This record gives sequence, C-alpha cells and structure tokens, in this order.
Amino acid sequence: MMDFNKDKFKERVMYWIDRGTGDGIEGATDRQTYEAVSRALMDLIWNNWRDCERDIKAEKLKRAYYFSVEYLMGRALGNNIMNLGLRPQVFEVLDKMGLNLNAAEDTEPDAALGNGGLGRLAACFIESLATLNLPARGYGIRYRYGMFRQKIVNGQQVEVPDDWIASGDPWSIRRNNRTVVVKFGGRVITEQAPGGKLVYKTVDTEEIRAVPFDMPIIGWDTNTVNTLRLWEAESVNGFNLQFFNNMEYLRAVESQNRAHDLSRVLYPNDNGPFGKALRLRQQYFFSSASLQDIIREYKRVNGGSLSDLPEMAVIQLNDTHPVIAIPELMRILMDEENLGWNESAEVTKKTFAYTNHTVLTEALEKWPIDLFRAEFPRLFQIVDEINRRFMIELSKRFPLDKQRHHRMSIIADGMINMAWLAMAMSFSVNGVASLHTELLKKDVLGDWYAIWPHKFNNKTNGVTQRRWLRKSNPALASLLDEVIGSEWTKNLSLIVGLRDRVDDKNLLNRIGEIKAENKKNLANTTFRLTGIAVDPDSLFDIQIKRLHEYKRQILNLISVIHDWLAVKNNPNLDFPPRTIFFGAKAASGYRRAKQIIHLIHAVAEKINQDGAGSLKVVFIPDYKVSVAEILFPAAEISQQISTAGKEASGTGNMKFMMNGAITLGTMDGANIEIVDEAGVENAFIFGLNSEEVKELRDNGLYNPGAILDDNPELRETLNTLVNGTFGFSDDFKELYNSLVYGVEGKVPDEYFVIQDFKSYSEARQLAGETWKHKEQWNRIALLNIAGSGKFSADRTVQEYASEIWRIRPRFQSANNLRKSEKLCSI
Ligand SMILES: *Cc1c(COP(=O)(O)O)cnc(C)c1O
Repeated sequence: MMDFNKDKFKERVMYWIDRGTGDGIEGATDRQTYEAVSRALMDLIWNNWRDCERDIKAEKLKRAYYFSVEYLMGRALGNNIMNLGLRPQVFEVLDKMGLNLNAAEDTEPDAALGNGGLGRLAACFIESLATLNLPARGYGIRYRYGMFRQKIVNGQQVEVPDDWIASGDPWSIRRNNRTVVVKFGGRVITEQAPGGKLVYKTVDTEEIRAVPFDMPIIGWDTNTVNTLRLWEAESVNGFNLQFFNNMEYLRAVESQNRAHDLSRVLYPNDNGPFGKALRLRQQYFFSSASLQDIIREYKRVNGGSLSDLPEMAVIQLNDTHPVIAIPELMRILMDEENLGWNESAEVTKKTFAYTNHTVLTEALEKWPIDLFRAEFPRLFQIVDEINRRFMIELSKRFPLDKQRHHRMSIIADGMINMAWLAMAMSFSVNGVASLHTELLKKDVLGDWYAIWPHKFNNKTNGVTQRRWLRKSNPALASLLDEVIGSEWTKNLSLIVGLRDRVDDKNLLNRIGEIKAENKKNLANTTFRLTGIAVDPDSLFDIQIKRLHEYKRQILNLISVIHDWLAVKNNPNLDFPPRTIFFGAKAASGYRRAKQIIHLIHAVAEKINQDGAGSLKVVFIPDYKVSVAEILFPAAEISQQISTAGKEASGTGNMKFMMNGAITLGTMDGANIEIVDEAGVENAFIFGLNSEEVKELRDNGLYNPGAILDDNPELRETLNTLVNGTFGFSDDFKELYNSLVYGVEGKVPDEYFVIQDFKSYSEARQLAGETWKHKEQWNRIALLNIAGSGKFSADRTVQEYASEIWRIRPRFQSANNLRKSEKLCSI
C-alpha cells in the first residue's frame, strides 16, 4: 500500500484550496474541495505515473494500445481514492479540516465520453489493465460535450448539452509537447525518387492540431498508473486577426470553429446508424493522432526501422470506429517511412486486432466512397489496393464464386465496408460473448470464417468489480471481506467461496438486510430525482440500458400494463407489491425509441396514481454511471430481455449479478454464460432462443396477428395504447401499429415482442412468487453473487493479454518488485 502521510496530504489540500478559493478554507465550496482533493491526489501519484511510463520504455515492454471512440468513465475521485486504498485516511484528513468528502464527490460531473456498453467496457478494461500491471494505454477523443443530459419534459426526452469540463477537469493534464498535426483532404501527387521508385505525397491538405490530454488510470493496490490519452482538436492557424479587424467576426473564427468541431461532441448513437461526415472525420482525427504518437515513441525507444513495430505494439480496435487506423498505418509506413507494400502490409496485419460488438446491420459501418475519397484521398487509394490484392487471393481460392467475391469485397456498391477492412488486415477478430462469437462465425462473418478460422476467438466481456461492487455496494463488499476475505477485489474467481455458505441462514439474512438498505437508498434517490415515492419493501425490478427496440423495453412495459389490468379486473389477485424501474437514453434521431420513453411516462403516470396492486412504475432520468452505481446494488430483478441473437454480450447483466440481483432474461449474449455459472434454476429464463428466432424470421413464419387472436388478454392490453387509457398520442398509435401491422414497409413486430409475451409474463410471475419467500430468494441471490467470478474485466483483459496481445505485466522480475514498493511523491 502507498506510503501516506496525513500531515503532508493535508498541506497539499490546503495549498490547492488556497489557490482555488483565494480566501482560504472558510470560503471553500464542495466543488472547490473536490478540486483541491483531486489535485492533491494527482500530486501524490505523480511520480508513480511518470515512472510507469519510464519503466515500460526502459525495459522495452511490448504495450497494448486500446483504440476506442468512447470511454464512459463516470466519476474519478471516489474510484481513485478507493483504488489507492486511502478512503479512511482521506476522509479523516478532510473531516478534521471541516471538509465533507462525500459532498465534494457529489459535485464531480460524470466523464460521459461514451454512449453505453461499448464505452463502459473500454473504461472497465483500462482500469483492469492498470490493476494487473499490464503495459497498456487507451486512446480516444476528448469530447467537449459528452453524452447529452436527459431531461424529461411532458413525459418526453429533451437533450441538454453535457458541458462536463465547464469548470475544468483536475484529472486531465494537457501535454503540449506531444501535439501532432492531422491532415485532411487535399490531393495525391506522385514523384519519382532518385532510385526510380514512385513516392506518393498528399498536398493542399487541411491541417488540424491534435492536442493530447492525459488522464491517470490508477490500479487497485498497485503503484501502476496507466494513461488514457484523449485528443482535442485545435486550429493550426488560430484566430484570424485580419478578418477580425475588418469586422468579419464570424470569418475570423471560422477555421478555429471548424477545427474544434472535430472534438466538439460525441455522437449519441448506440448500435445505430452512423453516416455523418463529421463522425468519419472524428474517427480519422484520433486514429491518425494516436498512430503518430505511438510511432514517435517507438522510434525514440527502438530507433529507426518500423519493421519490428509488432514486437513492441499491438492495437486493439474497439469496434469498427477506429478501423481507419489500418490504411493510415499503411500510409505512414509506405509514404513516410519508405517501406514497401508487402512489408507495410505484414507489419499492419501483425499490429491490429479487431473486436466486433454487434450483429445489427444498421450498426455495421459502411462509408460512401465519395465521402471517404474526398476526406482521405491517399487512404482511399490504399484501401482500393488492399481490396484489389485481396480479391486476387480470393479468386484463386474460389475461382468461379462471383457471389462470394461480391459479398466479401471491401469496396462494393459504392461503399467501403469497415468490418471487411478490419477482417482483411488484422490478425485477430473477437466477439464479446460465446453466443455472439458463434453467430459471427456462422452468420455475419461466415465468409471470413471459411477462409481464416484461425483469426476468430471469443473474449466474453467483464466489468470491474472494484467500481461495480466494492465502490457502489460497500456493505456487500464488507460482508464478502468478512466471509471469504478481501482478495476477491483483485481476484474475483475467489467469490465462488461464498457458495459453501449457501445454507448459512444468518448470512442469507444479512444479504437480505444489505439489499433492503440499498433499496431504501434508491427509494430516496428516486424521490429526489422524480418526486415519486416508492415502497422500499416492494420488489425492485429494474431495466436500465440504452433505449433500443432490440432491448425490448416495450415488452416490459406491456407486461406492466397487462398486470395492472389483471389486478384491476380481479382485486383478489395476489400480486406482490412491485416497483418497475426504467432508465434509458434514446439516440436523438431515434424516433421509435423516443416514442417508447413517452409511453413509459404516460403509463407510469396513470398506474402510479391508480395504485392498483401496489404497482409502481418509475423512469429514472439521465441514466449514467454515477446513477447506475445506486441502481445496481438495489436491484432484485435484472431485466435482460433482448430478442435472442441481438445483444452481443451485455455488461449491465453482470453488474446486476454481482450485486445479487436475479436475471429475468432471454438466452442471449452473456446471459447464457451467466446462467451457466449461476445455474439455470437460479434465473428466470424465457422466450425463443436465437435459433428459433432465426428460423421464424428466415422462413417468414411469424404472424403476430394469429397470436393475438389466441390471446384476447394481450389484445386488450395492446388496445390500451390506442383507446385513450394513457391519453391519445400519435406516438402510442405508431407503437401499436408497428407491433400489430408493421409500418414504413417493415414487418409487424420485428423484435418478436408478441411472440415472447406469454412466456415472459409467466417468468415475471414466477419471479414475483419466488420473491415472496425471502430466504429462498436470498439463497438464489447468494448463488448469483457466488457465480459472478467469471464476469470480472480482469479475467477478460488477462485473456486479451495472453491470447491476442502477448504482453506481460510489469513487476515480474525481483528488480521490479522493489520498484512496486516505491514511495509516493509527496
Ligand atoms: C453497464 C452500463 C451500460 C451497459 O448496459 P447493458 O445493459 O449491457 O446494455 C450502459 N450504460 C451505463 C451507464 C452502464 O453503466
């Protein structure tokens, strides 16, 4: 553990308070306390952070670089204090100074530089990498505005900009010396070099300055501090004084604005359509800047030739968003480093590994040739040549199979297929849960599996148990420490030890008591955020995730309506009191998702004032990491009800599980593995599996109308959307039509809501019945907690490190062990 001197730390806090307030500790606000403590902690870790970088270079360790356009970090202060093991000490120091640590923490805005699961995965991974002392660095974009804040006005989502760095960010450091220039557009010229070789140059480009901001990533119980490097865009020309003097004020800042646009805002689409030119420019901006950074560092450490780059660097592409880094590396190797095509291609193929995150066609990135060529003329030539060579190879292998050639062509029908580019030019492709990887092999990437099966591997996602259990559920964490020892914090597989105590009634009771406390806490938060009073003794049934049709929030909602009608029609029905929580943001342009949010609010308003059967519906606005940390520990039921085959993995399901919630879900994504680990009898599983869904869809056999004819109760339930029960709205009518008739040329009920309704309804009810028996419920909860060991991001990242990246941790030699005991900076 870190050498910590309370007096010195107090001095540092005082120093930063003085600098922040101008009038000493008396005037300090909670926000100023937050800044002062954060800065004092930065001082504390400073030497370790610097040494971590130095050691990796000095020992020439191969490093993994994680390229991701999203990092959904949440708050830093509380997590960093915890990982440093300093919570009691820092609390005590501040307390003696009359400062309130908890209140200070609450002033920190979430760093919400991501949409949902994919961005949060990146955040969990970099924390695990630091904890495991693995040489790694994250690269991304420092968006000026992160994920929008969600306000609810008249029951509908309104998006408000998320100005997360309005007051600055004590956790990031601007590194001017590592600035690079990224070039867009222009035209390609060729010149004859002295030896007769043709060289390609891109001229007349638009130049943008990329400035890195570094965030320290502090591991648990280690001196390793890794780096998350996020790029901000700036103009190389800056402000135009001539225009300004001519009173042309807009033109004076035009080039500045255009540059800033690149890192202005995170696109709020999750698993949805892309297609905006600015988004493609963002992808190139950060990919190019990061590659330049890596290569500059490589040369400094290893000298000139880049042939051995793959011995020192491996780049993991988090989905196709950074795949443009592939032709960019080719360009740098050929045009700037003078390597030939073959060698450049070899180096590139050994450097990149690609993670696929979705099977949804609307989310698989394809960019129009014209757009791509205009922005990156040289990269287009390179992609075209990659494709030409690949097509020759393919034709040798399948001489007559023209359809296959067309299907696999990286450039086809006027579009560049980024997933195909990744497949052709990386050495590894992985899915993010076992089912997902199998579906990739069979379906989405089936042609590629046929030629290169060795590239395919699975890496089931995980989450960091530090944030999602120890930090967010301290009472359960303490209980675990007491029962199995605290090592689970670093090695979650040990949590299985809890299973030996499944018959310990006292322990089951305590698990129940902790849940009850967490539920009270959520009830208070709910009241504060929504004004709705919920009964903490009711069953807490929670669905929190992005709003998407495939995630089927509407299946949950329709079942709520169904139960409500059932109780109204038969007041003697013995439904347990139940509170259904929703939390979800809809992409700004995703009409159907917004309609569902609207409907949730209309239903909630009606049902909550009606009170039948003690049913309550709550929509928690602005779902984000800091709110999630309150929701997961309070959950009893974890709703994971996507149409089978659609959710690649899910990670919310894992956070619920380790907090003792029981899965109500389909056999989809990682749910399958969760059920494997916990035992199928310890989850409520329903619905079609992915093969059954595929069968119905492929054969056009699905007829929701016929199901409704057989199920008048369900028909009556759906009718409430259009008969005014929840008010009249075109939104509700359209939702109804999309389920029953299909709209805009789509088949009715694309996501099999009506199909799965009955089976879901039964599983819900069984969950409610089971919940009435507290001891049995707590037993199942315990078995879920005990079964969650596999779902640590530590396990996932370890698998990436040994099976894909081939990197080793620092601190393996005795020499390094000494370094790990080094003293801290202040
Ligand atoms: C974990 C997490 C997600 C992902 O949830 P899924 O249920 O896996 O889609 C999204 N948003 C936040 C804030 C999270 O913490």
